[in-house]
Amino acid sequence: MTSCTSSNTPVSPDFREFLAGMPKAELHLHLRGAMPPGFFSYLLEKYPPKLVLGDVPKRFLDIFNRYDNIRPFLKSPTAVPIQTLFKYCSFDQFLATYLFTSYFFRTAADFRNLIKAVRSELTSQNIVYAEITVSLIEYLNQGITMEELTLALDETADEPGVEVMWIADLVRNTGPLKTLETLDRLLACCPRRLVGITLGGNEHQFPPAQFESLYARAREEGLHLSVHAGEALGPLSVWDALEILKVERVGHGIRAVEDPTLITHLAEHKIPLEICPTSNIQTQVCRDYESHPLPSLHAAGVPISLNTDDPTFFHTTLVDECLHACTMGIDESDIVAILAGGFQHAFIPKDRKAIFLQQLKNYCGQHNFSN
Ligand SMILES: [Zn+2]
Repeated sequence: MTSCTSSNTPVSPDFREFLAGMPKAELHLHLRGAMPPGFFSYLLEKYPPKLVLGDVPKRFLDIFNRYDNIRPFLKSPTAVPIQTLFKYCSFDQFLATYLFTSYFFRTAADFRNLIKAVRSELTSQNIVYAEITVSLIEYLNQGITMEELTLALDETADEPGVEVMWIADLVRNTGPLKTLETLDRLLACCPRRLVGITLGGNEHQFPPAQFESLYARAREEGLHLSVHAGEALGPLSVWDALEILKVERVGHGIRAVEDPTLITHLAEHKIPLEICPTSNIQTQVCRDYESHPLPSLHAAGVPISLNTDDPTFFHTTLVDECLHACTMGIDESDIVAILAGGFQHAFIPKDRKAIFLQQLKNYCGQHNFSN
C-alpha cells in the first residue's frame, strides 16, 4: 500500500505548480490523519513507550507486535525513521497503525499542538479553507475533557492562516446511544466553529439507518449533515443517508456509481460527494485510479469535491489528488471546476463562499487560465 498505481498520462509541471499556488479547500480531512509525520516524532520523543503502552489493552498490543512497521516503535521509537511507521501492506495494518498513534495524545496541549501543526501544513499548501473532521471520543478516551477539546477547537481556529471549521465525527462504532451522548456533551460546551457532524467507522456493522435520532437532533441544532456512506457499503447506504439521515453531503459515496437512479438523484438534487481517490485505493474500495468512478460521476453531473481524507497515512496531498484525477482523464479546466466545488459545497454562508470563489477566479486570471 505504500505506492499507488496510476496511469502514465503525463501532467505538465506547469499545471502542478499552478495547482500548488492556487487557493484551495478541503472538505473531507480527518485531523489525526493529517498530522505531519514530524509532529508525531515529537510525540514519540515526549512519551516513553513504557508510559504509553501501559494504557494499551493486551489484545491491541498483540496486534501492534504483529506488524513490522509498528513493532520498532514499541521499543525505541526515536531510533527508527518516522516514515517507517506509515508503510503498510494491508488495510488491517493501516487500521492498526492509525490506532497506535491515538495513544500518544495525552493532554489538551498535545491536542492543541496537533491542530496547530495541521493548520500550518495546510496553510503551506495554500489550502485557504478546511472543514476538518475530529473524532472527539479518541481524545476523551485519553482523559482530555470535552471543555478542553472545545476550547482548543475554537481558539486554534481563530489564528491566522487557513480558515478552519469543524465537523464532529461521532464515530458510529460507539453505537447510536453513545453518539447521541457525545453530541449532547459537545453541544453543552457551545463550540463556535462547529459546522456539522459525520459518522466514520464500520459501515457494515453500523449502517446509516441506526442513527436517525442522532441526525434529527443535530438538524434541530442547526448543524450541517454529512456521513461516510457508499464506501464500504453499496448504493443502498447512500439512499439511507439521504432519505433517513437527510444528509446534505456524502463522505465518499462513490459506490453510488452502481445505481443509475441514484446518480440521477444526486445530480438533480445537487447533493455533493466528498471524493478521496487515493483513500479509496488504499482502503481497497477501488482497485486502481484507472477504475475509479470519479470521471463517471463527474460526467453525470454529480457535484464533487476532491479531498485527501487521511493524507499522512495515505501519502497524498490535494495537489496529488488533482494530478491523479488528470490521469483518470479529467481535463485541466474540469479539475479547476472541481476545486471550485470545494468552496461551493462548503458548510458556510453564501457570502463567505463568494469571497473564496473570487480569490480563486483572481488567481486563475493572474495566470491567464480560463475555464
Ligand atoms: Zn473519512
